[in-house]
Amino acid sequence: MRRWNGWGEESTVVELPAHGAAFLGELVGAGQVLADATLEQVLAQVPASRISAPHTLISLDAVVRVRHARGQSLPDWLAMREGRFGVFPDGVALPETAAQIRELLAWAQQQEVILIPYGGGTSVAGHINPQASAKPVVTLSLERMNRLLELDEESLIATFGPGANGPQVESQLRARGYTLGHFPQSWELSTLGGWVASRSSGQQSLRYGRIEQLFAGGTLETFAGSLNLPTFPASAAGPDLREMLLGSEGRFGVISEVRVRVSKLAEEEKFYAVFLPDWPRALQAIRTLVQARVPLSMLRLSNAIETETQLALAGHPGQIAWLERYLALRGAREGKCMLTFGVTGNRRQNALSVRQAKQHLKVFGGVFTGTLLGKKWSEGRFRFPYLRHGLWEAGYAVDTLETATDWANVDSLLNKLENSLRSALADEGEQVHVFTHLSHVYGEGSSIYTSYVFRPGNSYAAAMARWQKLKHSACQAIVNNGGTISHQHGVGRDHAPYLPVEKGALGIAALQALSTHFDPDQRLAPGVLLQSQA
Ligand SMILES: Cc1cc2nc3c(=O)[nH]c(=O)nc-3n(C[C@H](O)[C@H](O)[C@H](O)COP(=O)(O)OP(=O)(O)OC[C@H]3O[C@@H](n4cnc5c(N)ncnc54)[C@H](O)[C@@H]3O)c2cc1C
Repeated sequence: MRRWNGWGEESTVVELPAHGAAFLGELVGAGQVLADATLEQVLAQVPASRISAPHTLISLDAVVRVRHARGQSLPDWLAMREGRFGVFPDGVALPETAAQIRELLAWAQQQEVILIPYGGGTSVAGHINPQASAKPVVTLSLERMNRLLELDEESLIATFGPGANGPQVESQLRARGYTLGHFPQSWELSTLGGWVASRSSGQQSLRYGRIEQLFAGGTLETFAGSLNLPTFPASAAGPDLREMLLGSEGRFGVISEVRVRVSKLAEEEKFYAVFLPDWPRALQAIRTLVQARVPLSMLRLSNAIETETQLALAGHPGQIAWLERYLALRGAREGKCMLTFGVTGNRRQNALSVRQAKQHLKVFGGVFTGTLLGKKWSEGRFRFPYLRHGLWEAGYAVDTLETATDWANVDSLLNKLENSLRSALADEGEQVHVFTHLSHVYGEGSSIYTSYVFRPGNSYAAAMARWQKLKHSACQAIVNNGGTISHQHGVGRDHAPYLPVEKGALGIAALQALSTHFDPDQRLAPGVLLQSQA
């Protein structure tokens, strides 16, 4: 059963190892544990639905409404844990076909209802939270539209319902010998429609591309009609309309069908770990490696603090001490940075790619440690979000931020971003533990993915106030220093105030015109992506 107030399956528990708790205790102080609300306490607050004309596709059940009321951002986490949800949807629509989505749009128009398209509810930017409104709010969940509808094995194009989550996409494709190759860390729960609507990026984007490259076409149901986007391998027929769906965040319509470019399953896949002696060499190594176009499927470089944190939280102090001794002997001591890379393809090509990568990394002092750590990363790659529970139960809040910028600016922006977080709670005398990795690298630049751990304080209100300071400080650092407000998590409500700096007034007006074109009465997720006009 999926957790109602946190991440993933209730049966999966990842605890903070004792060694990790001691490590954090030294850096930010002893954990501060806050009491959690129970589901019963939350259910007691759910108000009567304001839907006056019930619809057979809409559930008014209180548990269903609670389960669709919040996403996975830190404010969502605090609201769920405290049991102070604020606003609940008045109902949850569960269509099974595109025709039913159209029926729900017509009903919403007639009944003057606000609709919020909902995929897996893994948003970390406040995309799917209902807001207080005089009109009833219905969350439109695509979870029942999760099937592989067609597989064109000649063109390698698969057509899916938009609500297929990561495991549903991969299991249906793998049964036929194919993969989409899109593995965001939220893969267990996030959906194809959500990936397209929020421009998602998967861990192996280096091989398979981001969702922009995988998304071949599809259908958008809007208040102005259905927009069907056929697939073409390429086209010069004017602007590409797929771009209107990518990053649309539910504002233009409901994606009812998604066509994606798939690949044959690879013969072999392996992940390796290499340690670079220091950050300047590590940064140069990863940049020149990606610019040399060595055919790797994944590259992730942790800075020195993240490397130290990962080793401390790994939970096997004996083995880690042995590894540290080995690395020190080979020249990777304090300040070392861990680089994980993957190869995916046929055995001969993989062997060649590994040889090229090794030769390249050696020039920068890389110490190769084989496949053990890479295998551990691969096996645990979807378990990391569960550690948030372990940290919370030990009295620590954790959140992440991400951006992207050109190589010439990566180091400078990374430092400014980290420093903005480190100093954000200085007025309270609180330490913030901040660490970063680069995990989506391109010829011209890189994403920057920063995590931060802090103590929540002695109340939920204090925790929220701390988060607001941290988030605002980091977002300012990003937009004022040449970073995009999001590389992969999207805009939602939390990043919407910062978007105009990036898009400019004319750009925002153009996006607003599109939204008004498809949704004249602004019934779809108002305030998401584009802030509501006063
Ligand atoms: C632990 C964790 C790890 C994460 N890791 C990654 C990562 O590695 N890479 C990454 O890209 N993101 C990551 N995310 C962010 C999140 O998973 C992505 O933004 C994801 O694409 C959201 O998909 P979803 O199906 O959960 O969409 P939701 O959260 O349900 O919705 C997101 C937005 O898409 C809209 N939407 C959803 N479905 C439709 C549809 N069918 N039609 C129209 N609009 C729709 C919603 O209205 C909303 O605006 C992570 C989140 C968490 C909590």
